[in-house]
Amino acid sequence: MSVKENLTHIQHEITNACKKVGRDASSVNVIAVTKYVSNSRAQEALEAGISHIGENRAEEGIKKWEYLKGKGTWHFIGTLQTRKVKDIIEKFDYIHSLDRLSLAEEIQKRASTIRKCFVQVNVSGETSKHGLHPDDVLSFICQLEKYPSIEVVGLMTMAPLEEDPEATRPYFKRLRELQMSVQALKLVHAPCIELSMGMSNDYKIAIEEGATFVRLGTSLVGE
Ligand SMILES: *Cc1c(COP(=O)(O)O)cnc(C)c1O
Repeated sequence: MSVKENLTHIQHEITNACKKVGRDASSVNVIAVTKYVSNSRAQEALEAGISHIGENRAEEGIKKWEYLKGKGTWHFIGTLQTRKVKDIIEKFDYIHSLDRLSLAEEIQKRASTIRKCFVQVNVSGETSKHGLHPDDVLSFICQLEKYPSIEVVGLMTMAPLEEDPEATRPYFKRLRELQMSVQALKLVHAPCIELSMGMSNDYKIAIEEGATFVRLGTSLVGE
């Protein structure tokens, strides 16, 4: 299947999910996660009209960025090692995996302008997943005030892999509740208007629960 064909199907699903809950489909951004695919397939995604590209590894991501000459908006969605920050910081527009102060400090040190960051939350508590415990999110975000290069644009989570996507709903609901708690603090450095949640198997549920960025690999560009 071409990326264009996959995208047409996905856009249809997004429209339906939005209709169900009375959202405007234009409030959902699709990130093409190109970590499994070739440079040329990533190029095909851009040509299909997708402007957001997501990569989870620094080396691979930089190679793709160079091949595509930085066209589009770039999202770093994987665990970010502190020592890799300097390599990716001027190429990626969004970082979805801010989960510790040492990483914030390094971003502050290396970034020439404000960086849009998502704070990653481990809602499910699975030990295999990165991210903050939900109870620690508010105090963590308050502490980010001392890093003026960091803007907390939203929260990010990965739901557990469930056979029935419906089973992911409580995790997305919890992230949305946390987002509302952050917004209630009215912090200038943390508007927290975005929710990065939903992958190929569960994006429809995530959208019903308020996702503004869905991260799609398999279903959009392939494995
Ligand atoms: C790989 C990956 C995705 C995309 O996964 P698919 O199930 O292939 O859509 C989304 N988010 C993160 C953080 C990933 O690492």
